Amino acid sequence: MSHGTLYIVSAPSGAGKTSLVRALLNRVEDIQVSVSHTTRAMRPGEVDGVNYHFVDEATFKRMIERGDFFEHAQVFDNHYGTSRPAVQALLAAGTDVILEIDWQGARQVREQMNGVVSVFILPPSREALRERLSARGTDDASVIDRRMRDAISEMSHFDEYEHIIVNDDFEDALAQLAGLVLSERSRLERVRERQGPLIQALLSRIEGVE
Ligand code: GDP
Ligand code: ADP
Ligand code: 5GP
Repeated sequence: MSHGTLYIVSAPSGAGKTSLVRALLNRVEDIQVSVSHTTRAMRPGEVDGVNYHFVDEATFKRMIERGDFFEHAQVFDNHYGTSRPAVQALLAAGTDVILEIDWQGARQVREQMNGVVSVFILPPSREALRERLSARGTDDASVIDRRMRDAISEMSHFDEYEHIIVNDDFEDALAQLAGLVLSERSRLERVRERQGPLIQALLSRIEGVE
């Protein structure tokens, strides 16, 4: 049966994971990003159902109790979670899925599923991280200070990931990320899953030929 690959992309806030993942989706086919649920306030420019499903605390709690989440975690002062049925449906349809989640969520996913490919995005320096958080223009100064402090603890988990990409030059980082996804698709077990009919057709014996 065809089955997509699950990718985890983690990074401290501002390292560029959302920009990189968005650019990846324009470059590579058959891959989608999972839209998380969150209790944080919507930023200017964000759209409910596109960037996140924005829900209140009570709704989030109800979803936890119903077992709706594949993983969930508190990051900063907000709750974030990945819907289980949404991810399962995409994977079952053979689509690769990216989870943009923190290290706590990554641990929960690895415990539940084999064959997960995990990537950690690092900024080229602390100064660059602060500049990017400021340049994004979506968070006020106190939120940026908090995110900078939390960035250091998030980054301390980089060695729990299989792949590390330093997002210095954006195009280079994007090429690394896309290369990783494409090379994953060439692995023997993935090819067996995805290309069953082709392999069968290529290997079937021709009548009358030994
Ligand atoms: P948004 O969250 O919808 O604003 O989208 P992004 O975070 O992807 O991009 C916001 C802005 O960041 C863009 O309009 C660019 O000006 C800038 N930006 C994105 N990528 C790069 C990059 O590789 N280098 C630089 N210097 N700026 C970038
Ligand atoms: P995250 O999703 O990790 O919080 P974003 O994708 O929102 O980060 O990126 C934060 C800011 O940094 C955005 O304004 C983005 O355009 C910018 N950015 C991302 N990658 C680069 C890069 N390689 N060089 C310069 N700026 C970048
Ligand atoms: P932001 O508020 O900047 O969009 O995201 C803040 C942090 O929450 C990031 O580190 C991001 O990886 C994490 N995050 C976003 N969605 C989820 C999710 O569904 N689950 C978990 N565990 N973390 C998430």
